[in-house]
Amino acid sequence: MTESQETLSNLLQENRRFEPPAALAAAANVTASAYTEASADRLAFWETAADRLTWAERWHTTLEWEAPFAKWFVGGKLNIAYNCVDRHVEAGNGDKVAFYWEGEPEGDSRVITYADLQKEVSKAANALTALGVGKGDRVAIYMPMIPELPVSLLACARIGAIHSVVFGGFSATALKSRIDDADAKLVITADGGFRRGAPSALKPTVDEAVAQCPQIEKVLVVRRTGQDVTWTDKDVWWHDLVDSQSEQHTPEAHDAEDPLFILYTSGTTGKPKGILHTTGGYLTQTAWTHNAVFDLKPDTDIYWCTADIGWVTGHSYIVYGPLANGASSVIYEGTPDTPHRGRFWEIVQKYQVTILYTAPTAIRTFMKWGDDIPAKFDMSSLRVLGSVGEPINPEAYVWYREHIGASKAPVVDTWWQTETGAIMISPLPGVTAGKPGAAMQPLPGIVADVVDDQGKSVPNGGGGFLVIREPWPAMLRGIWGDPERYKETYWSRFDGFYFPGDGAKRDDDGDLWLLGRVDDVMLVSGHNISTTEVESALVSHPKVAEAAVVGATDPVTGQAIVSFVILRGNAEEGADIGAELRQHVAKALGPIAKPRQILIVPELPKTRSGKIMRRLLRDVAENRSLGDVTTLTDSSVMNLISEKLPSAKSED
Ligand code: ATP
Ligand code: MG
Repeated sequence: MTESQETLSNLLQENRRFEPPAALAAAANVTASAYTEASADRLAFWETAADRLTWAERWHTTLEWEAPFAKWFVGGKLNIAYNCVDRHVEAGNGDKVAFYWEGEPEGDSRVITYADLQKEVSKAANALTALGVGKGDRVAIYMPMIPELPVSLLACARIGAIHSVVFGGFSATALKSRIDDADAKLVITADGGFRRGAPSALKPTVDEAVAQCPQIEKVLVVRRTGQDVTWTDKDVWWHDLVDSQSEQHTPEAHDAEDPLFILYTSGTTGKPKGILHTTGGYLTQTAWTHNAVFDLKPDTDIYWCTADIGWVTGHSYIVYGPLANGASSVIYEGTPDTPHRGRFWEIVQKYQVTILYTAPTAIRTFMKWGDDIPAKFDMSSLRVLGSVGEPINPEAYVWYREHIGASKAPVVDTWWQTETGAIMISPLPGVTAGKPGAAMQPLPGIVADVVDDQGKSVPNGGGGFLVIREPWPAMLRGIWGDPERYKETYWSRFDGFYFPGDGAKRDDDGDLWLLGRVDDVMLVSGHNISTTEVESALVSHPKVAEAAVVGATDPVTGQAIVSFVILRGNAEEGADIGAELRQHVAKALGPIAKPRQILIVPELPKTRSGKIMRRLLRDVAENRSLGDVTTLTDSSVMNLISEKLPSAKSED
């Protein structure tokens, strides 16, 4: 194969390695033998993982696979809420803390034990039944990060209702379209939540959406902020209805393949999909991966995932995985800079957090704010650090490890999606010698590959399309109401393989590196160049905090690389910054990857889950009108960026 036919170029070389800490390795929950066991008998491996749960009835068939439709643990019955809550109380752990909840206003906190959670979930389940919600009904949940949010999810799971959580930052239009798509009959919400030091209303958005959704019968409203609300005849206060319910509720066992939830993807590519997950396989894989990837010791660890429960990370790694494992977790309501930029580290110090799971966008923001902020806090309790959501730039990984993890805590870069339900590719902190920027290996029981456009595995050193070759327990069971779109989106590109839409490379040791979305790949003079590698090269320059690159049509090279760069807080722009950065990239990756233009911008367009939306930058770079912006956090950012464009020019 000639160089120009390469599916995806492999340009970035990274030689740093971090061995697992000896003590962690010696006591690790999962050791290297898990890989051998799983490859010897994948289904037996997942059966053992499923046996960590409590089943009311054991399954008779581990996997039924009629591509692309999978059923796992067929014939098995279990109740997810029982597994996440009641069984820990029955085991004598009722006094154990399930959640340390920290509100945004300082001093506003609650401690919720497993016994408390059992009572709250039982009351909420009784309340849902009283509102006429039954098994299979859809419940839309639009809430701030308060304890009633996980309680609502668990109450739905307990009675077999299907929850559809809509992130509390979305507009009335977005909420309405998700209510309609799932045909929900109940909305659970709150008057508001605290954001950036002030109450932020949610109820008016719900009112606006529900006014156009006649199928909604009731709206259950938590009083959180105490702000004024308009009251309609569909509205019911949580404290009136839920608080008066019985604390007793018998959890009925549900089928392993009964639906658990619908969740819309975060919309980076612009068209959110209603991803459907079911019960037994989902809980098996979220619980197993949470135990393995974070090396969770339920008796001593304090675990904190900073995601919002409105995203899949919050579903799988705040609610279901950690609770199934009996973990003690922190939940934080607010933003990282309220009332000051050290708030996260203050929380780590207060609760002696041992495991932290966050996103590259947050890590890059902390880098931008400066090393001196985390240095003011005692974070010596931290022993494992996780990352999810985007490829982590090697420089951000090293910063995270050094400034948050005191150069001792391993970083686990976890690749997965709303569709996969649980972590798929990640190091194991007690086994893997980590490489900054690499997700390393598929977890035991997961069969992933990197293939070229013919579907053939690429050799070590090559790049291409990431695929999953075998079904996995937590996989999506479809797109709600649209089996054709399910087949078309994930199963039509390569025969028999699941195609997640991401590019990847396999390095000389056979380890995997995620290279961003294949839709974003840039074709420059016959070379397919990933956005991730160029962005990582830019971020490795000491003046750069964050970067996004896109390919724009170019008369000479087909496409040319246009870079949008945010400088670090203390960096001077200077007249020749563009030339300096272009040289820097050329040196790191070779002249082929040298950007045509560098635009210094104040912000980048991001989804509400914090991911960069490159397709909008491509529109700007090619002077087109903008595509769908409904999942964008702040649309005024695009004006700021467009203003920068005419002044930008190529330096040679
Ligand atoms: P949509 O599918 O609607 O465009 P989305 O893909 O952003 O939205 P999510 O399911 O929240 O919605 O995100 C999953 C995607 O995030 C992955 O397909 C991948 O592109 C990216 N991602 C997540 N974790 C990682 C990681 N550790 N490394 C690289 N990329 C990651
Ligand atoms: Mg996606």
